[in-house]
Amino acid sequence: MDQLSFLEDVPTTQSVDWVATRQVGLQRLENFLPRAGRTYARTRNFDLGPMDRSNISCLSPWLRHRLILEQEVISATLTRHSLHAAEKFMQEVFWRAYFKGWLEQHPGIWSSYRSELQRLLDLLPSDGQLSARYQTAIEARTGIECFDAWARELVETGYLHNHSRMWFASIWIFTLKLPWQLGADFFYRYLLDGDPASNTLSWRWVGGLHTKGKTYLARSSNISRFTNGRFDPAGQLAAATPPLADDGPAVITALRPTDVLNQALPYGLLITEEDCHPESLDFKSNPVGVMGLAATNQRSPLPVGERAAIFARCAVEDAISRAEAQFEIDRFESSRLEADDWTDQLTEFATASNIKNIVTSYAPAGPVAERLASARPQLAAAGIQLVEIRRAYDEAAWPHATKGFFKLKAKIPKLIEGLNG
Ligand SMILES: Cc1cc2nc3c(=O)[nH]c(=O)nc-3n(C[C@H](O)[C@H](O)[C@H](O)COP(=O)(O)OP(=O)(O)OC[C@H]3O[C@@H](n4cnc5c(N)ncnc54)[C@H](O)[C@@H]3O)c2cc1C
Repeated sequence: MDQLSFLEDVPTTQSVDWVATRQVGLQRLENFLPRAGRTYARTRNFDLGPMDRSNISCLSPWLRHRLILEQEVISATLTRHSLHAAEKFMQEVFWRAYFKGWLEQHPGIWSSYRSELQRLLDLLPSDGQLSARYQTAIEARTGIECFDAWARELVETGYLHNHSRMWFASIWIFTLKLPWQLGADFFYRYLLDGDPASNTLSWRWVGGLHTKGKTYLARSSNISRFTNGRFDPAGQLAAATPPLADDGPAVITALRPTDVLNQALPYGLLITEEDCHPESLDFKSNPVGVMGLAATNQRSPLPVGERAAIFARCAVEDAISRAEAQFEIDRFESSRLEADDWTDQLTEFATASNIKNIVTSYAPAGPVAERLASARPQLAAAGIQLVEIRRAYDEAAWPHATKGFFKLKAKIPKLIEGLNG
């Protein structure tokens, strides 16, 4: 069948406007909605190149920073399409909740990724061969045209199509035989939607570590078909994908309890890059002030891509401005968005605002959670309580993310029903 006939009803667009404001995210959602039903299901696997992203939503950078919320995307989609017609798109949106919930209940996977990455980075200067192969890959010099093009696209735009992320990770692991953690770090440093859960667990999935023994093989025929013939790496790719050495059973841990805010006391609002929609947090009274902090530079021991860092900072800025307007409050002027140690920043905020409670959205596994965890005891010693509130959407979805995606997928209709209740 002619592949282009699949795509006839998908209008071509210019490259995506990656601006980190809620308004731009909502506009992107609005523009995509007519195609979120059967058109998405039929065409989503095609990577048409960076100048045509019309067959997918490209909402991930806005969703990752919660400039727009999953439940908003779900509700808006279901005003245009039946759940049956939009089933595929809904499932993809819930993949995010699945990965977030799964990592939250397997925190050891995140810490072992971080320590193994550090070990590999320390090894590079003394292992000339590994270092040369790694540099060749990240500098887009492998000679595998599609891989090199994706490496450049990632660095230049901060985005890659899902199918290309899968092909790229598979080639990285099985053709180039590079450690998956170095590839995950390369993605995490540059992706605008770089996310500890979706990224780390997808790389593990490609390598056969998430669904034990089930690996993902990038085939040249598949790449040629789904890039509409833009690439054809015939004869260049590994033919087999032996699963990576098993890294042991993933230990499941109970979800970290969420805190309770005493709304009778004055409190300050902390916005981080994990959640940039404070208007929808369930406050009975207004906070007395707002500050924002970002931990994007902590994504890796290596420098983080400028576009990714700017997107996260602008997302926090946008959220601060909306909080000022919504709650009729002022921002804490001396707040520095990127600070290595948050204790001093938060203490100054509490002292200047004369408050003992600082509220923020629950921070799932990742650099923000690490910054908060290390500040918490010292704040407590100064009589300042840090209150992390988990959203109802996460509270409902995460408990189903203990095994494979199927368990959560089966709950999607009930979870959607619950959003309206
Ligand atoms: C190796 C690898 C690394 C990845 N790293 C990240 C990452 O760091 N951050 C990230 O958000 N996604 C990651 N993904 C998942 C997926 O590739 C992106 O979410 C998707 O490509 C974003 O494009 P979109 O918004 O057009 O998605 P659409 O196809 O329009 O889907 C809508 C939304 O559903 C969610 N979603 C879709 N597919 C997935 C998926 N497979 N896993 C989790 N959520 C999904 C996203 O929030 C997305 O915006 C990774 C996938 C792979 C294979």
